[in-house]
Amino acid sequence: MKELEEYILKYGKVLGTDILKVDSFLNQQIDIDLLDKMATAWYEAFKNQGVTKVLTIEASGIALGTMVAYKFQVPLLFAKKSKTINMSDNLYTAKVFSFTHHDTNTIAVDKNYLKASDKVLIIDDFLANGQAVMGLMTLVSSANAKLAGVGIAIEKGFQKAGDLLRARGINVMSLAIIDQMNPATKEIVFR
Ligand code: 5GP
Repeated sequence: MKELEEYILKYGKVLGTDILKVDSFLNQQIDIDLLDKMATAWYEAFKNQGVTKVLTIEASGIALGTMVAYKFQVPLLFAKKSKTINMSDNLYTAKVFSFTHHDTNTIAVDKNYLKASDKVLIIDDFLANGQAVMGLMTLVSSANAKLAGVGIAIEKGFQKAGDLLRARGINVMSLAIIDQMNPATKEIVFR
């Protein structure tokens, strides 16, 4: 998606060898017009798939997922990263190693909100090594629900999870795919 690539080039910051910081428009402050265009792009891509639920992971997936769910007029469901006192024990869970925090979380959704009759569109901000998306896919398959596809804002193509998921026949639609990020020159090359 041209606009997202332009935002990445204009405002994104390359940290180290493999982290892109996009706090000014996606991860802390959120550009509403861009968010709307991104959600529309995913809607157009998946509108004929019979999506009944959008699934994401807290925290940064929630804003994206909300706008996408609004386009589809279906509920947004987000997996929680830590068990809170008011959560039931009636949970689907999966272990996810966090790329940015370097720790393992058990993600969970209440079984009441994910059913075998659901067709799920997974949405997340980044795809790196695929841990978050695969954890969400585990929740979907635990519920015997169907997967419509995966919508990602920024895929770091050099980390290969997107290619692996596509090779498994999963419909992954990334709005920007970065194939190279040069830590020295800060240059970003899109696929
Ligand atoms: P994965 O699970 O695919 O390895 O990593 C994806 C998750 O880690 C995303 O939910 C995102 O929050 C975070 N993440 C991975 N790479 C980056 C990055 O380069 N920048 C930011 N801001 N978050 C990232």
